[in-house]
Amino acid sequence: MLHVGTTLQPLLKPIWLFFTTAARSFTDRRVSLWFALVGLVGAVLVTLVWLAGRYEASQYQAELDRDTSDAASDIRRSFSRHALSLQSLNAKSLSQKNWLSDVEVLLSQNREWLRVEKRDLQGLVSVFVNAPYRTPLFETNVRLNEQAEIVQTCQRAKRLNGPAYSRTYFVPQSSGIGFEVMEMCLPIIEHSITVGYSVLTYSLQEILFAQLGETYGRRNEISFVEPDGTRLAVHGTLPRSKRLFTATQLMDLPGNTLMLRMDGRRAGPDLFPNVLPALVTAMSIALVSVLVLLVKDSRRRLKAEQDLADALAFRKAMEDSLVTGLRARDLQGRITYVNPAFCQMLGFKAEELLGASAPMPYWPSEMAEEYQQRQAVRLAGNALSREGFESVFVRQDGSRFPVLIFEAPLINVLGKQTGWMSAFLDISEQRRVEELSRASQERLQATARLATVGEMASLLSHELNQPLAAISSYATGSLNLLHAQQRPGHLTDQHDLRDLQMALEKIAAQAGRAGKVINSVHDFVRRRDQDREAVSPQALIDAVLPLVQLQARKLSVRLEIKLEERLAPILCDRTMVEQVILNLARNGMQAMDHPACHQRTLTLQIKKAASNLAHGWIEFAVIDLGVGIAADVAKNLFTPFFTTKTEGMGLGLSLCRTVVEQHGGHLEFEPFQPCGTLFRFTLPAASTV
Ligand code: ADP
Repeated sequence: MLHVGTTLQPLLKPIWLFFTTAARSFTDRRVSLWFALVGLVGAVLVTLVWLAGRYEASQYQAELDRDTSDAASDIRRSFSRHALSLQSLNAKSLSQKNWLSDVEVLLSQNREWLRVEKRDLQGLVSVFVNAPYRTPLFETNVRLNEQAEIVQTCQRAKRLNGPAYSRTYFVPQSSGIGFEVMEMCLPIIEHSITVGYSVLTYSLQEILFAQLGETYGRRNEISFVEPDGTRLAVHGTLPRSKRLFTATQLMDLPGNTLMLRMDGRRAGPDLFPNVLPALVTAMSIALVSVLVLLVKDSRRRLKAEQDLADALAFRKAMEDSLVTGLRARDLQGRITYVNPAFCQMLGFKAEELLGASAPMPYWPSEMAEEYQQRQAVRLAGNALSREGFESVFVRQDGSRFPVLIFEAPLINVLGKQTGWMSAFLDISEQRRVEELSRASQERLQATARLATVGEMASLLSHELNQPLAAISSYATGSLNLLHAQQRPGHLTDQHDLRDLQMALEKIAAQAGRAGKVINSVHDFVRRRDQDREAVSPQALIDAVLPLVQLQARKLSVRLEIKLEERLAPILCDRTMVEQVILNLARNGMQAMDHPACHQRTLTLQIKKAASNLAHGWIEFAVIDLGVGIAADVAKNLFTPFFTTKTEGMGLGLSLCRTVVEQHGGHLEFEPFQPCGTLFRFTLPAASTV
């Protein structure tokens, strides 16, 4: 496998490189693709508009071509009609006078006719008629310049036995202008023999005017041109600014070829020559607009995609960096999601957990059933506590640890529940710290107790002095009596024996008293029962009273005990509560150890608490008539190691408060009237009376 992997590596590297480069240039490519698309659409639209314009122009050109060819055939038709008129005139064999008058009529009817001649076979003019209302074209009846041309044309006509046309030529006039003219020669045939010719002179200009002016002259400029473009005759004019379309048509006449040209007047070059290009342009604009909208939309989409990717990346980073384990389950209890912190907490891989359902692989086997029931209750939709609940999980390596679980229903966007979401906190460290704090608290309490014991010891020695001194003096007295008895000559009488008995009784009483004192201290020191028990308030007072009295006697304080009747027993850690009472009593008595305090009474008061009656709480109050507590001292009263006394440790009150609060109670103080301080605390009753 390794071998294959290493041989494939050089091969895969370029492919990988290609894909990464492709991915990187993806955005650039997308931009250039858009540019290409916009360019293409632009090019297509311009081409379309251009083609539409061209189509329009070609349509017009075709129309002009058609018109030109129609015009040519119109002229041709009129030529043959003219030839026919002349022919019929010749066929009538009219007298010269009649011929002349008929020709004159024809000349006046056809304004393109300039002159009609009759010629003999040699080509000489025998008779001619000029067009009326017009200056005669030629001064004489012989046209020497054109003679050769006419003769040639007439010979062609004779050969064709029909009309023949001469080449066109210019006839200048005395007024300065002139005419471009063309001759038509028609043989005169009598009994199938050509006896002469009729020659008709056409004005080219007038042909255009008479034959085409009406039909085509309004919109076009019509002209006869030579092959090199020279205009022979023109009719109509064209405005300069208009676009010009030109069509030419060759008119093949026997003996001559005329070129008819038509220049079209055209409203161009307009951008929108007609509806089609306008339509195409409108569609193009619409297309471009749609394209722009598409680009905008695509840009918006891209941005949304980017935002979504960012949000997803942020969510992923957030989930990955969370120290809280997260797990989602569907409504059937199957795991659908776990975050890395959850996997790390348990030592399982995500794949091992996904899809798992009860019993979960991280449940302790002996508790699986209990957990399953608990889960069933939760899945049944019972209200979940917001505080969370504690549980124990097993890591993959078998070690167990406590977790705090918070569960909440998983609600989708439609507001429908799709499962459950749970957050897990590994609280092993928290538990360890709590344990440490509890241990140090206990050590602190033990230290405080030892301090009390030390104090007790000094009081004890003072207290024991009296009985011991009494015992010692009684014992000395008794010994003296016994020595006297042993002296020779001394008689033992009843009186001596009674004295001895009394002394021994006193010794026993004093020893008993000393023993009691020692026992009370011993009891206090020895007893260390952590468990809570129901203790009657009276028993608590009885236990601490000997010790309180020790100090009271020393400081000349009067004790007053006020115990309400029929009080319920208290559920407490007896030793600690005794310590609290002892501390408060000792503080109170010390506060009264001042020359200013004349009335030295310490009151211990126990009664039912005014508030919390329903739960049955007992209130303890320790009232002294001492110097009271100054405001700056009051601020720090419960701070550990705060003391105003030279040998004080400053632990008493902070310890008292901890103990009372551990029992769920509350410790407070207030100034007492007329002087001194009242310390009050509450403890729970075992049951109401
Ligand atoms: P310690 O007795 O070792 O000084 P405590 O925590 O019991 O420590 O008391 C702290 C301080 O609070 C005392 O030093 C004293 O100044 C003040 N104090 C406590 N109880 C009383 C009281 N009943 N009257 C006046 N001052 C008091």
